[in-house]
Amino acid sequence: MSTDSPTSAKTKIIRVKRPKYIKKTQWNGYINPSWRKKDKKKVTILYNMIERRKSFFLQAYFKRNGYKYIDLGDHVKEDVRWGKEWGNRMECNPMYFTSGSLIRNLFKIQRETGLSKEEIVDNYIFLGGGGQCGPCRYGMYPQEYLKVVNDAGFNGFRLLIFSSDIGINQQCKGGAFTFDIWFLINFMIAFILADLLHVAECALRPYAKDKSHALSLIKKAEEILLKAFTSRLYFLKLPLALARAGKMLMQIPRNKARLPKIYVTGEFFANLAHNEGNYNLRRFIMDEGCEVIPGFFTQRALYDNWRRKQEALRGIKYAVNKKEKAFWKKSLRKQNTSTAIITFFYSWYHRSIRPESFGGKSHILNLDVLAKLGYDYYHPEIFGGEGNLEVAEAIYHANKIDGFISCKPFGCMPSSGVSDGVQAKVMSMYPNLNFLSIETSGDNEVNILSRVSMLLFKAKQKVSREIHKKSSIIYK
Ligand code: SF4
Repeated sequence: MSTDSPTSAKTKIIRVKRPKYIKKTQWNGYINPSWRKKDKKKVTILYNMIERRKSFFLQAYFKRNGYKYIDLGDHVKEDVRWGKEWGNRMECNPMYFTSGSLIRNLFKIQRETGLSKEEIVDNYIFLGGGGQCGPCRYGMYPQEYLKVVNDAGFNGFRLLIFSSDIGINQQCKGGAFTFDIWFLINFMIAFILADLLHVAECALRPYAKDKSHALSLIKKAEEILLKAFTSRLYFLKLPLALARAGKMLMQIPRNKARLPKIYVTGEFFANLAHNEGNYNLRRFIMDEGCEVIPGFFTQRALYDNWRRKQEALRGIKYAVNKKEKAFWKKSLRKQNTSTAIITFFYSWYHRSIRPESFGGKSHILNLDVLAKLGYDYYHPEIFGGEGNLEVAEAIYHANKIDGFISCKPFGCMPSSGVSDGVQAKVMSMYPNLNFLSIETSGDNEVNILSRVSMLLFKAKQKVSREIHKKSSIIYK
């Protein structure tokens, strides 16, 4: 055994040279310069909101308020490659889809207009959501947008990101755009309208006698609603336009077949993208001869409020002083008001279009009921991604549907890492639940859709057994 010890060794003094450059301040991240009112006419807003219909309806707000805008449209597979090329490593794919879409479009604008990168920075701004997915990587989205644009050479490109402090510069006095109450109301109306037409597509695409005719009428309904929403009198005109669209959709001849019912849930982006972000999953299922239960952004917005409400209730209970209690009480009032407004508009517009008249399923699930249902298996106050929803929805639908798909981005922490583990328990309680978990990665489409096809095959077998059983009882 050696008797040497660090203290017994002779200490050698090494003189370290003072560096030539010493950083005096901490790095504060990328800059996000303000967009001033005087430049309002000069600058074009680039935006896209998860999927085409939501962006389509949001244009009404920009039109009415005199903004120049470009709807970047649906996310495409290629966006993941762009996002990976310019973004950080090991992100979940909604981040690659959203930041990739932005950078792909900036290069496209550069190619098509011949403008320099500096001119693009001066003439365009991007508007998007701050935490378009879960709280697990919340806050990284805005930084990721800034990273990709700056690394790609669009230095100082401006972002308007709501529910994030990154757009704070843009909100100052004299800013050309604010996320005020009117923007939020218009955003809410846009996603409710998109949800109601999604209900129409889910109802008519698999059942219509002439699918292309049904889809063309849904497109016509979109135009009718957009026209009403673009008017300054949209509060009055939208209910009338919805009633007109509902009457038109009601006339579409439908088959009376009993198709397998498939429920799709999962992480918000993968579940609700309705484009290449989730391999157009719902449309694929419908075109394979099954009915798919619609997925609602409205439900997700209500869940966000519900989650914040639980946080506020806990904050009130454990507040250490009056100031803290007052803060949480204010937060609770805000969530309750927001929930009441969303519910009011959804019910109002729902009554106007009457989805049941064309076979639409438009029921928004009660979040308190779901929290109770899943309580023993996934505590409703574990927040992240969709929280308890995936597990609670599986229990809620176990005996009501013929197939249940949980769809999440590759490597999603709350959904792949936690919910899927709990679903094993749910499946042991409901062995007849035809369950499939899939991970979207932007590629691998054939593999994923073939797994979905197998679930659909089992669902069809289940339905045909049921029909056979019924007919043999009648025959007896
Ligand atoms: S919920 Fe999943 S996909 Fe969304 S940010 Fe979190 S890890 Fe990413």
